[in-house]
Amino acid sequence: MPIRTLDDLDVAGKRVLVRVDYNVPLDDGRITDDTRIRATLPTIQALRERGAAIILVSHLGRPKGKVREELRLAPVAARLGELLGEPVKYARDVVGPEAQAMASSLQPGGVGLLENVRFEPGEEANDPEFARQLASLADCYVNDAFGAAHRAHASTTAVADLLPSAAGLLMQREIAALTKVLESPEHPAALILGGAKVSDKVGVIEHLLDRVDLLLLGGGMANTFLKAEGFPVGRSLVEDDKLDVARATLDRARERGVTVLLPVDVVVAPRLENDAPTRIVPVEQVGDDDAIYDIGPQTVARFAEALRSARTVVWNGPMGVFEVPAFAAGTRGVAEAVASCEGFTLIGGGDSVAAVEQMGLADRVSHISTGGGASLEFLEGKDLPGVAVLRKKE
Ligand code: ADP
Ligand code: MG
Repeated sequence: MPIRTLDDLDVAGKRVLVRVDYNVPLDDGRITDDTRIRATLPTIQALRERGAAIILVSHLGRPKGKVREELRLAPVAARLGELLGEPVKYARDVVGPEAQAMASSLQPGGVGLLENVRFEPGEEANDPEFARQLASLADCYVNDAFGAAHRAHASTTAVADLLPSAAGLLMQREIAALTKVLESPEHPAALILGGAKVSDKVGVIEHLLDRVDLLLLGGGMANTFLKAEGFPVGRSLVEDDKLDVARATLDRARERGVTVLLPVDVVVAPRLENDAPTRIVPVEQVGDDDAIYDIGPQTVARFAEALRSARTVVWNGPMGVFEVPAFAAGTRGVAEAVASCEGFTLIGGGDSVAAVEQMGLADRVSHISTGGGASLEFLEGKDLPGVAVLRKKE
């Protein structure tokens, strides 16, 4: 069932409560990356053009239901004002007197930001009374916080049933891209998985295995697969309790005719340090004192070759410990291959997205998901609570 969009809402002259994801990285009160704020500008502009007054609500960090001075949203209101080119009102509470005064003072086209919604214990508890207080500030509700859609919280789910509600443009774009790769991927389709652990990714493999033609495995999780295939892994990160899962996954993939590529060479070191002595070795030759921290150049070349003709690519999880320059080449090589691919390419996952942005390749990818955990759960086939409440009713 499709979701409701801005076209399904009549917002002219109305006050619209807009859930956004302004969970930005802060360093001593300064915003170090404003991507998430910029990502909401299209929805804010669209609502302003339609004559709405906009009341923004977001979480920041994990204050656990208490006011934490360092997690106030004042710096976000200031930055948003700079981006919009006009001041943004800011209330120092979520549903209290300042919030109410701000909501009622907003003129059509005006923009205000409520305080960090997680200062309120009712938020994470999905408390109906708190949701009612939030809803009382506005006439309609728009959810543009895809990154929080996997949480059933008051500002992402309960409030949506209390007001006429719809998805914002960012939410709509995320759902469209993820739905496309799940429901109608062009073939050949490739799934690239990496990152730290198999246990974080089994759900995605399970759900996507029937939909892809190629499965490329790298990163720490590939170690468990290598060990399951009988290769030596030395002191690498391995999940011994997932060896069975790895074997079963490989069997199933082969049964279904999915081509699985595991690393054929790896970068090893005795310890995780940038200046540790590193070696590139074939996977048969990982020593007892070696730990695998990246895929090797031959593996990158094989992965790149496989991706060249792909019409759909889904990538989650870095190929190595890319945070350490000595172990970043594998992730960079695969990122370049994904960027060069002419098919539809999608990258999800907090660290994977950070890696691709850091490497300056993000604008050559079809869709970069802003939701780390949310995009993973979507790829696992879960019905995200924040999305389910926006679905059209029959
Ligand atoms: P994402 O956030 O994109 O979903 P994950 O959180 O699953 O990705 O994994 C990212 C982490 O995996 C990174 O911090 C990276 O250092 C780590 N990692 C990748 N390869 C290895 C490896 N070979 N050994 C240990 N850690 C690894
Ligand atoms: Mg991560």
